[in-house]
Amino acid sequence: MQIQLADFVKAKPEHDELAGILRACVHCGFCNAACPTYQVLGNELDGPRGRIYLMKQALEGQAVSRLTQQHLDLCLSCRACETTCPSGVRYGRLLDISRPMIDAIVGRSLPERIVRGLITLIFPYRQRFGALMAAARLAKPALPPALKQKIPPKPAAIAWPKARHARKMLALSGCVQNILAPEIDAASTRVLDKLGISLIPVPGSGCCGALNYHLADPRRALALARNNIDACRPLLEQGAEAIVMTASGCGVMAKDYGALLQTDPYYAEPAARFSALVKDLCEVLIAEDLSVFKADHRTIAFQSPCTLQHGLRLSGVVETVLQTIGYRLVAVPDEHLCCGSAGVYSLLRPKLAARLRDDKLQALETHQPDIIATANIGCLSHLQSAGNQKIVHWIELLH
Ligand code: SF4
Ligand code: SF4
Repeated sequence: MQIQLADFVKAKPEHDELAGILRACVHCGFCNAACPTYQVLGNELDGPRGRIYLMKQALEGQAVSRLTQQHLDLCLSCRACETTCPSGVRYGRLLDISRPMIDAIVGRSLPERIVRGLITLIFPYRQRFGALMAAARLAKPALPPALKQKIPPKPAAIAWPKARHARKMLALSGCVQNILAPEIDAASTRVLDKLGISLIPVPGSGCCGALNYHLADPRRALALARNNIDACRPLLEQGAEAIVMTASGCGVMAKDYGALLQTDPYYAEPAARFSALVKDLCEVLIAEDLSVFKADHRTIAFQSPCTLQHGLRLSGVVETVLQTIGYRLVAVPDEHLCCGSAGVYSLLRPKLAARLRDDKLQALETHQPDIIATANIGCLSHLQSAGNQKIVHWIELLH
């Protein structure tokens, strides 16, 4: 396909990459069949092929409008289209680079700027998000039902095993997960401890930056990435083996630090080293002897987050870990479809997110499992917001 990038795009370091991605798309439309928003809305411009066309127009300097921005806003960034694409089009990368450029041209309304600004200033920072949740719990009785559903009860205090092994791995402090569900990192620490590995929380680390990155705020996202690289460096130099991600969404971002900072004169090399050591929790577990764990009688439906399937390309790994231990897994129809969580999509597009959530829960309940397991805090809290009490992070099933 002929690509004529506009001058303002040619001035960006990513211009060759963008042209390459656009050129790879042959407009076959196979990806539309895998796209959740296309399936629900049935509009070509709310599917990947149409969105690629809109981004191409924008990057070639043709007129873009509020409508262009809205079609891109409706995208979940789930990347199911990437997994399906026979030509290997890197749709997610195209969207991440194009969105801030299109936002700069079209602008945002004041209410949108306020909502997005508050999200990017509060959610990635644990103390701020913790204060927000504490206030939300106090105000919960007076809130509308849609918001009420999103506020979980305060988690109980949990004891963490002390670091006592020669083998050490690192855990970033993260952002929302340790406020909403601290039991996930506690369970990960307990499980790794049983395998002879101490999981060490990294002082001074924080959010991976994914939330800001996908809200067209790459500047703050990369500042968060640099902070995590600096925070982990001394512990890696002391021999820590890996940086373990207990949320698949954060894993995708952290594994991308090397690519995202490749033109940074100070961070390109440390970022590449950092990313090479990032492992999703399931990658760590699958390489260990799991005979110390025993399954119980419960049947499991596993909701494989988009970030695990399409971002990390680790389909089937969690399932293999659970089956190795002895759990019986039931089949889940349309496994590739997003649950609607997609970072803060469920806050920005609540109606569509709720529809996708309800469809996903129906699929997960098809074979009436005792438990629904997932691998990402966003999916966990979004699915729980429908009132389903069966949902846990898969690591909590290892005893
Ligand atoms: S992204 Fe891939 S599957 Fe979709 S239209 Fe382009 S080439 Fe075809
Ligand atoms: S990322 Fe997901 S929602 Fe967006 S176009 Fe691709 S399949 Fe559709």
